[in-house]
Amino acid sequence: MKAGVVSVQGAAPEHVRALQQAMAGLGVKGAVVSVRRPSDLEEVSCLVIPGGESTTISKLLRRFELHDRIVRMAEEGVPMMGTCAGCVLLAKEGDAEVEKTGTRLLGLMDMGVDRNAFGRQRESFEAPLDIAGLEAPFPGVFIRGPVIRKVWGDCKVLSSYGDKIVMARQGNMLALSFHPELSGDSRVHEMLLKMI
Ligand code: GLN
Repeated sequence: MKAGVVSVQGAAPEHVRALQQAMAGLGVKGAVVSVRRPSDLEEVSCLVIPGGESTTISKLLRRFELHDRIVRMAEEGVPMMGTCAGCVLLAKEGDAEVEKTGTRLLGLMDMGVDRNAFGRQRESFEAPLDIAGLEAPFPGVFIRGPVIRKVWGDCKVLSSYGDKIVMARQGNMLALSFHPELSGDSRVHEMLLKMI
């Protein structure tokens, strides 16, 4: 089994490690590959789109001819997880900032997002989150994360922080405002692997 991590910009190496830890935890034999070009996506059974800068990642996805390939893979049912900037890219609807920067979203999940929505004074923080399907709270690490403003259609909320939606699932896709790869807890990555 091969898991891929989009590695054009942002927090990719941490996801590689978290996926390796999750594979070990589940007793799954597999490799994690860094995805930089279309051929890296061959035989990938699940894909992570990491945090970073969504404007930059979206540009690079097009420049490296990954954008359309990733859309096709998602439509074919390959499990995907977008964290933070990756969450923004999975959404069908952005906000004024997404519009202004001309960010082209992958547009795969029935949700609207607001970039950098936690405000200046709360740029980075950690909070325990109740996540549907996980027994104990998960340590949520937030770094200028987006808020999932709304979901519709088949997109379901998996976790909220106060009145803010911070995790959602639609079929084979997971979107998170926070950074599970920085928490030292691999349960969310295990959730992705179990979707294969
Ligand atoms: N603010 C960033 C963006 O929307 C996301 C921050 C992050 O991924 N840590 O692109």
